[in-house]
Amino acid sequence: MRRLTRDEYFLAIASIVAARATCDRLWCGCVLVRDREIIATGYNGAPSGMAECNEVGHLLVEEKGKHHCMRTIHAEQNAIYQARKRLANLNGVIAYINATPCENCLSELLRCGVRRIICGSIYKNVERLEMTAKLTEAFGATIEYRPSPDISLVFGSEVTDVKKIRIDRCP
Ligand SMILES: [Zn+2]
Ligand SMILES: [Zn+2]
Repeated sequence: MRRLTRDEYFLAIASIVAARATCDRLWCGCVLVRDREIIATGYNGAPSGMAECNEVGHLLVEEKGKHHCMRTIHAEQNAIYQARKRLANLNGVIAYINATPCENCLSELLRCGVRRIICGSIYKNVERLEMTAKLTEAFGATIEYRPSPDISLVFGSEVTDVKKIRIDRCP
C-alpha cells in the first residue's frame, strides 16, 4: 500500500468520523485542520440527549419538492462548535469533509474564517454545486473535490493476525 498524501490522510479520517453518524440519508464526517494538526472533528447526529434518526426515524421536512432531515446537527456544525470552545476563529483552517457541505454549513465555515474546503465526494444536487461555487467565490475561498481514499487497510507485512478495517457504510 502506498503512503497516503496529507490531504488523503485527513479525508480518510473524515470518512472514519462519518462512521459515527446516525442519519443514514448521508453519513457525514468533518475534520478541521490548522497547521497540519487536527483541531476538531464532527459527524452528523441529533443534539446531545435527543433520540437519533437510527433510533426513531428521520424528521423530514419538504422544501421545493425535496425532503431534508432536520433532526441532526450537521458534521461541519459539530466540528465548528468543538473548535470554537478553544479557538476564537477558524482563520487558516482547512475543512476536510467526506461529502459536499450544505449551504448553511458552508456559509458558517466561511464566516468563521475557513478558506479551503476539500470534499471527498460530490453531492448529486446541481443547484447545490452552483450555490457552493458562488459562496466560495464571494469569500475568496476554494472548494476542491477529491475521491476519498480506499480505507480498507492491512497493517503491514509483519503481522500474522492480519486486521482489516472496512467502513462499509461509506459509499
Ligand atoms: Zn435523519
Ligand atoms: Zn450542513
